[in-house]
Amino acid sequence: MIDKALLETDQVPLEKREELLYEILKYLRDLPLDKRSVVVAGIYDLETNQLYAASSREVPSTSEYGMWNHAEFEAMKLAFENGVDPSKSIVITSLSPCVVESNRRPHDACASMLLEAGFSKIHTGHIDIRQATLEEYREMGLNITVTENQQLARICVALDRFFDPDRADRKKGESKQGYIDEVLSGIPEGV
Ligand SMILES: [Zn+2]
Repeated sequence: MIDKALLETDQVPLEKREELLYEILKYLRDLPLDKRSVVVAGIYDLETNQLYAASSREVPSTSEYGMWNHAEFEAMKLAFENGVDPSKSIVITSLSPCVVESNRRPHDACASMLLEAGFSKIHTGHIDIRQATLEEYREMGLNITVTENQQLARICVALDRFFDPDRADRKKGESKQGYIDEVLSGIPEGV
């Protein structure tokens, strides 16, 4: 069942949501190379107009694939340290939150963590259909919207495609940081 009222995002106009998506992509671009990852998230406090942005962060582990704190998890930590009220905030992400089980993160799936913490409004650059469809996210109770800005969408899709084994533009010996750098060089002057 989809709650119609829940889908109304008029408290944060689309223009503002797009500006925040732009801001988190610029945040990622301006991070030192070794701190960048292919996903960035931010929590915007509607009461103080502060944006708490974070990238995914690799954490020590013995797993051969590595273990990562996801960007939403890191952004939530920052937001709580700064006293953000989840019900008076919006979550911005380059990629929609994870839903499925994974042994490559030390925390729960981001979609359920956000919901349990009381965050329900999300604006994203790209829906990760390996995790859920837009309808499925909404059925979970997430009031999620997707960018309508084609330039920002292209960047978010390209970031997510880094790990895609079928990616046609994969270069021999390509580094993750080099790939991210190239994608982020496409950030427009403004939105
Ligand atoms: Zn996640």
